[in-house]
Amino acid sequence: MITNGSNFASKADSLRSSGLNRVTFSLDSLKPGTFRSITGSDKLSGVLDSIEAARSAGYPDIKVNAVIVRGQNDDEVVDLARFARRNSLTVRFIEFMPLDRGHIWDRKHLVPATEIRETINSAFPIVLINPSRKGETAWRYRFVDGTVGEIGLIASVTDAFCGDCSRIRLTADGQIRTCLFSTQEYDVRELLRSGGSRSEVTELIRFAVARKEYGHKIGSSTFKNPSRPMSSIGG
Ligand code: SF4
Repeated sequence: MITNGSNFASKADSLRSSGLNRVTFSLDSLKPGTFRSITGSDKLSGVLDSIEAARSAGYPDIKVNAVIVRGQNDDEVVDLARFARRNSLTVRFIEFMPLDRGHIWDRKHLVPATEIRETINSAFPIVLINPSRKGETAWRYRFVDGTVGEIGLIASVTDAFCGDCSRIRLTADGQIRTCLFSTQEYDVRELLRSGGSRSEVTELIRFAVARKEYGHKIGSSTFKNPSRPMSSIGG
């Protein structure tokens, strides 16, 4: 499950006993003011409580996703790495992509994963765990001093992994998206509500998958911003 974590604490135990093993929290800042300006809410303490609740409930795989934006939270890279060490969990640093609600993305806001890695490495030396990224989105690092916790670097712009991408997404309102940057969606909800059969749904999924994009084209002249921001696509 990927969650903003604002209300996860109250559900941590019941979800765990229902079989949930992996939970990923979106947490772009540990500073209340920056958190508020990024999310538009004052729920930082709720998110931190939720992460603590996940640890107490014994989730074997807890991650934090942080999108780093130049001038916004790039001063918190070391603090977030320290958070991974203190809480024995994985913090994944994600390059800023043009999927923001306000459409403010510009290359000047991008903090390359290589820069993030060097910033962390100079405070807490890290070493690569996975020599190949096949099937994964993140380059994974452990701490050289043996502290439990992990760093992930998701270089979605400067070192894109589209060539290995096998993902499609189903949005909460029933649309298949074959890429985060799709400009076209396939309406499963409408098909189901109009009485579509299982084979018709299968056919629609096959049709969509056959048209999956080769990549995101960020930086090319043909790139188009998708109309939906990340928060309405889902993860
Ligand atoms: S193809 Fe689209 S969804 Fe897949 S990794 Fe590239 S940008 Fe992301």
